[in-house]
Amino acid sequence: MKTSYAHRFQNSLATLHEEGRYRVFADIERRCGSFPKANLNVTSGTQGITVWCSNDYLGMGQHPAVLAAMHEALSQYGAGSGGTRNISGTNHLHVELEAELADLHRKESALLFTSGFVANQTTLATLVGLLDGCVTISDSMNHASMIDGIRAGRGPKKIWRHNNLAHLEELLREIPNETPKMIAFESVYSMDGDIAPIAEICDLADRYNALTYLDEVHAVGLYGPRGGGIADRDDVLARVDVINGTLAKGFGVMGGYIAADSVICDAIRSYASGFIFTTSPSPVLAAGALASIRHLKASAVERCEHQARAGQLKTALMKADMPILANDSHIVPVMVGDPVMCKTLSDEMLRDHSIYVQPINYPTVPRGTERLRLCPSPVHSEADIQALTSILSMLWDKYALPRSVAIAEAAE
Ligand code: PLP
Repeated sequence: MKTSYAHRFQNSLATLHEEGRYRVFADIERRCGSFPKANLNVTSGTQGITVWCSNDYLGMGQHPAVLAAMHEALSQYGAGSGGTRNISGTNHLHVELEAELADLHRKESALLFTSGFVANQTTLATLVGLLDGCVTISDSMNHASMIDGIRAGRGPKKIWRHNNLAHLEELLREIPNETPKMIAFESVYSMDGDIAPIAEICDLADRYNALTYLDEVHAVGLYGPRGGGIADRDDVLARVDVINGTLAKGFGVMGGYIAADSVICDAIRSYASGFIFTTSPSPVLAAGALASIRHLKASAVERCEHQARAGQLKTALMKADMPILANDSHIVPVMVGDPVMCKTLSDEMLRDHSIYVQPINYPTVPRGTERLRLCPSPVHSEADIQALTSILSMLWDKYALPRSVAIAEAAE
């Protein structure tokens, strides 16, 4: 490469190093059947570790029904889908999966995408583009995929202060009644773990004639009597216009989707470039996702155990006087407030104690709110919880870190 170009890349990377937020990926091999145990590849060989930061929240990535369905689909249909949805790439499993997802969210229709990110990005961009002049009112903590999509739609937008209904109403009031508008938000916010007041947001949407777009990525499979997310739990599925979800977290596989009225799905299917111009997901993935969704629709066992583990972990950390951010979800953020310290803690936990928690730094969270984000799951044991808690507590003593939750919350 010509040096003048290389310098530019090096300078950009140097900034990340200077700010202590250069990302280093842990090279791991999850052990199927004994996850959250995994092998970490290190120069001297491999090291057995316990993963505490996976979004395979329920361990469905190793569920026997999911694995069996994927093996069977691989034998029956081969590896890939062989095309875009329009050109030979619609396998019957895609059709079945979309019907299953529509039913999960009690919608007329659903559309499958290669990831939750793509689903958000291309759906929001297309909705804004189709609804000429549509004003998007976006929660200030929305995920990068939603922000990207809203930007790509090139329509007017307003940012509403996180979960603040009064501010949302103030912004809605400023928009003429006849102007199309869409409120875009999440149910469980993945970094703080707080939960949106969906019913109240829908009340405002009704009052001001706005569409609602809800990202349930960190809730599907995990909440609601059938795993349909927080809107399912709160019995407001019918009040949300577009629900976005992932097959990669609670369902343990890969892929994303939206569920909505048929006319919306048909419009997205027909206009969204991120849906049209890409090879459809492998039928193997579709088979695994179908098995996972079907299992979790019928079984609340994993959901109950998940909540129980989250409760146990929070209690243990509170007893150890650790600065965890309070919330009503399964996500357990331990606040650090400094990117370099966050990485130091994570490195030391992995190297010396075989506990893997990735540091979460800017831009994933605001500067000054860097944290260790813990994801308890039914596959973590009580011994895992005890080991994690005592090592965190020991590190907090070693580095004389603040333990008060009040300090952590103030940094938000
Ligand atoms: N929405 C939210 C809130 C997320 O946190 C994420 C990703 O982690 C996504 C969407 C993207 O989902 P996926 O991982 O399926 O691309």
